[in-house]
Amino acid sequence: MGRLNLATWVDCTAVEGPGNRFALWVQGCVQKCPECCNPHMFDLMPQHILEVDEVLSKIVHAQIEYGIEGVTFLGGEPMLQAKGLSKLAAECLNLQLSVVVFTGYTLEYLQTCSMPGVLELLKYVDLLIDGPYIASMPEKERNWVGSSNQRFHFLSKRYSSSIERDPTYSHGFELRISLDGTLKSNGWPNQFD
Ligand code: SF4
Repeated sequence: MGRLNLATWVDCTAVEGPGNRFALWVQGCVQKCPECCNPHMFDLMPQHILEVDEVLSKIVHAQIEYGIEGVTFLGGEPMLQAKGLSKLAAECLNLQLSVVVFTGYTLEYLQTCSMPGVLELLKYVDLLIDGPYIASMPEKERNWVGSSNQRFHFLSKRYSSSIERDPTYSHGFELRISLDGTLKSNGWPNQFD
């Protein structure tokens, strides 16, 4: 099914979309928005190269172990790896998992661009959150987004627009400490500003 170049992933997070989710961050983004949370994911270089099937196995495990509601693809720029992600997303929908994607490109751009796999991936996305991060336009109210230009597109009937501001969802920051002492964080750190 192809390969993915991932920066990292977490088996279960509550701050990267609705409900508990498996989240993966792809390596590589050419937009390089000033003050992006993940500048270490900008470089288009091999990081963790995994077969799509391997990632799918991790997702299946997370579904069994944590009862995840869905998967979230972010980064880095998921659309640069849309071909592999489209295959993964199709399998996730077969597992009844929802698919959320954060992209720095606008939906209008994606619908007309020639990047491989993008139109295929969009077929499987329930919720697309689009647009680059603009530090001068901080978002203070809506869930999961960093700047107010970023838009929610509900591409299926799985979610309704009420989730955008639903206070019962977590819009926060998670910190994980591994047994070897390694720290891993995700979510939106600037919510405390
Ligand atoms: S598009 Fe997203 S990942 Fe890329 S630089 Fe902007 S905020 Fe960061």
